[in-house]
Amino acid sequence: MLADKVAVITGSTSGIGEGYARALAREKCNIVLNGFGDAEEIEMLRRSLETEYAIRCLYSPADMTKPDEIADMFKMTVDAFGGLDILINNAGIQHVAPIAEFPVEKWDAIIAINLSSAFHTMRHAIPLMTARGWGRIINTASAHALVASPNKAAYVAAKHGIAGLTKTAALEVARDNITVNAICPGYVWTTLVEGQIPDTARTRNMTEEQVINDIMLATAATKKFTTIEQLAAFAVFLCSDAAENITGATHSIDGGWTAQ
Ligand code: NAD
Repeated sequence: MLADKVAVITGSTSGIGEGYARALAREKCNIVLNGFGDAEEIEMLRRSLETEYAIRCLYSPADMTKPDEIADMFKMTVDAFGGLDILINNAGIQHVAPIAEFPVEKWDAIIAINLSSAFHTMRHAIPLMTARGWGRIINTASAHALVASPNKAAYVAAKHGIAGLTKTAALEVARDNITVNAICPGYVWTTLVEGQIPDTARTRNMTEEQVINDIMLATAATKKFTTIEQLAAFAVFLCSDAAENITGATHSIDGGWTAQ
């Protein structure tokens, strides 16, 4: 379905982003991976996508807090592939603390990675998509783009910001055959979620099991974690022709969390 298209996926060296990369590669889309991690493991992932799906896959180490490195990632993409069709803004970090104790550098990093980087990537991506007369931009937001939780001020602010940026960008490119959407997952079982468990247990004085059952799955009406594969399948759908009139929307995939 996406043969010969080119996708840049930020934060795709693990978790949800890696899931998007696999799902798009399965549709024969060429991929630019991005994110941090062990160099050998990233190279193994890059090579496995190329060999398993017979596509081209490159890796950009661009730090999403650095606009110059983001620009380099798009230059590399254009040099290698001649253009861009799909952008998925997915890189994200989390920190859990009450506002009065929230480290300023964590606030700055979360706003930079989870929100501002999507502005910088779109600045480069939109002219490339306009030139091709087709484009898909997908932002991984969160249920926290729609509702709040205590102790996640920066994350909730950044994700609410991403929802607004999604809507604005969608309106700006609505006549250019480019759609812009946000996917809003509930809790997905990834390293990011796993990493939150000890912090949350400490700040709320709970056991790790209580954090999983009483906090994370407390909000999901279905009492199920969302899976990476479910998110990736939805991203592939948003890239299809059937989704050409879906734009400027926040799509909850959260087991009914935000219906309550
Ligand atoms: P993850 O930690 O597995 O992935 C995060 C990715 O971002 C990694 O590839 C990491 O290397 C990359 N990254 C971090 N800082 C970066 C930087 N400065 N520059 C470039 N890349 C950077 O976590 P995940 O759960 O897969 O999260 C992916 C996205 O999904 C995030 O935006 C997160 O907020 C969102 N999300 C996750 C959940 C969940 O339950 N896991 C729920 C809702 C939304």
